[in-house]
Amino acid sequence: MASNRPRTGFDERLNASLDYDLLPLMWRVPTPVKTDQEILQNSMLEDDPNSNTILAGSLESDAGSCADGDKREQQAKRPRWGPQHKGAQELAKLYSSGKRTQELVCVYICITLMVLNLALILRHFRFERISNVVVAAIFGILTADFGSGLVHWGADTWGSVDLPIVGKNFLRPFREHHIDPTSITRHDFIETNGDNFMVALPILGKLAWNFFTRSNAEIQQDYAISAYLFLCSIFIAMTNQIHKWSHTYWGLPGWVLFLQRHHIILPRRHHRIHHVAPHETYFCITTGWLNWPLEKIKFWSTLEAIIELSTGHKPRADDLKWAQKRA
Ligand SMILES: [Zn+2]
Ligand SMILES: [Zn+2]
Repeated sequence: MASNRPRTGFDERLNASLDYDLLPLMWRVPTPVKTDQEILQNSMLEDDPNSNTILAGSLESDAGSCADGDKREQQAKRPRWGPQHKGAQELAKLYSSGKRTQELVCVYICITLMVLNLALILRHFRFERISNVVVAAIFGILTADFGSGLVHWGADTWGSVDLPIVGKNFLRPFREHHIDPTSITRHDFIETNGDNFMVALPILGKLAWNFFTRSNAEIQQDYAISAYLFLCSIFIAMTNQIHKWSHTYWGLPGWVLFLQRHHIILPRRHHRIHHVAPHETYFCITTGWLNWPLEKIKFWSTLEAIIELSTGHKPRADDLKWAQKRA
């Protein structure tokens, strides 16, 4: 089916990159988590936006099943993804001035605390601590990556936009992102990073408090933990910016492309695996290092099965509801 669609540079790159998209220096993935066909049929082609509305392959299969031409034409006009999707437009309108204010406040306080903590960390740094800092950085990245996966999975899978306060303010962006993945590339710095900066705030606040209330000896004793907390909070704060870059196919600075290419931050091809409907895997979006191992141990599907069994709630019910609001 996919072979009827004109092949693009994207297809070639997809084939070339999928198998080798994880931690190149640590392991190679022998088989892709999603096949090329699954990706092409069930996700939006972000580097080929003119083909985003509907794929040639699915049009042809619809042609076979629809009895009349009108129905076929109607189907072809309904966007499956992108800014013309009716559900995406409805969700975008729910971004309120109150939400914007919360994001602005979080971003400014967080940046102040980042600068303050950086100065304090550097002031207490001793060269013999360098190995501690490297280990703290690695654990900080892994914690942030796992945390990004857990929060992303929770928000994608459970709850509803109709929930008071949390729904419109914190779940709405996740719903919008699945049906219009490129909307994130049109968001400014505040809208992109406000919520992640908010998560990093209490960690940075506690860290600054520790620096000001503890003696020098105590600070030195706990230096590795402080470095870990600082770096972890920086990676948490940066996560949605990194996520935005993974959806940006034009105009990225060379250093970002370098970090993506070497899988130091979330690569674009790697994150495409999450964007294959029904969005049930690859939730980690800081570096994505944990995605493959978590998928292989069926971490997310096991958690979902336990929750569904104990509560009766179906995973992704609200996400599916929004995806179906195509017209
Ligand atoms: Zn998602
Ligand atoms: Zn995404």
